[in-house]
Amino acid sequence: MSSTCLFCRIVNGEIPAKKLYEDDDVFAFWDITPQAPKHFLVIPKKHLSGPGAVSVEDEALIGKVVRIGAELAKENGVEQCRLVMNNGAEAGQTVFHLHLHVLGGRPMSWPPG
Ligand code: AMP
Ligand code: ZN
Repeated sequence: MSSTCLFCRIVNGEIPAKKLYEDDDVFAFWDITPQAPKHFLVIPKKHLSGPGAVSVEDEALIGKVVRIGAELAKENGVEQCRLVMNNGAEAGQTVFHLHLHVLGGRPMSWPPG
């Protein structure tokens, strides 16, 4: 846990968020600036700064983040969706607590901008 990390503070309830799912390891909430009709974030409760900080011991945890993201997408009517993790500022990462974006509800183009 990092007391200065926005997403750690959301997990701890210090900052409000529209929670979608929570268990012992994972937390999911709607993105505050949605980029699609359905856009939510799935995060490990453990503070990891991003994909580049994932170690072997975190592999099961990050697999769970992906599984929960896909399940929540299906439950929310967007089984066909875009799952994105930005890794570093140049890639568009602005919050340095690993998060999986799940976006759906509109056609997606490729490549991303
Ligand atoms: P990234 O640019 O990949 O780091 O994504 C960070 C995401 O967090 C962006 O899509 C933001 O809209 C979202 N975000 C930032 N602050 C909040 C918040 N307080 N509640 C929900 N989503 C947030
Ligand atoms: Zn954090």
